[in-house]
Amino acid sequence: MKPSINIQQGWLSSARRVPSPNMNTRPVDTSISLLVIHNISLPPEQFENGYIEQFFTNQLDATVHPYFAEIAEMTVSAHLLITRTGEVIQFVPFDQRAWHAGRSCFRGRDNCNDFSVGIELEGADTIAYTDEQYTVLAQVSSCLMEEYPAIMLDTIVGHSDIAPGRKTDPGESFDWPRFQQLLKQ
Ligand SMILES: [Zn+2]
Repeated sequence: MKPSINIQQGWLSSARRVPSPNMNTRPVDTSISLLVIHNISLPPEQFENGYIEQFFTNQLDATVHPYFAEIAEMTVSAHLLITRTGEVIQFVPFDQRAWHAGRSCFRGRDNCNDFSVGIELEGADTIAYTDEQYTVLAQVSSCLMEEYPAIMLDTIVGHSDIAPGRKTDPGESFDWPRFQQLLKQ
């Protein structure tokens, strides 16, 4: 897929920017070589309510929902969120290190946050993602592969691939062949 979007100073031209404080610099001389696909929904399996933005910017109100009380103190982020309608929100510029992978390992290399971009799909492991999400994810991924050539088809993985036994996202509902087909177009 030919990207119709571009990246300037680490920001995606098509994204709405919601800067998160949950980031730091990548280790020196670290090239971006991995793309990690996640899912998130707040509360679980509920969509399009703005809570993910609040969570990634440390603004989540712990009193709104019992689940929020469990997670409100966590300081996490991702570079991008793709909502159910295909809106793209960027929290961290790509040249900075977002806090999405946690304890993780890819091909013997720990701390995947150091060398990856993290994309959250608004969703859940057992609920189908939307057509808009597949389209936009493929566009954004193509753009990232062009900007960061060390990201290749075989270095686009799920969170569950780099944190097995601990994480399950993006889950069985994510159609990898469909996504890979879109990427090759
Ligand atoms: Zn994840």
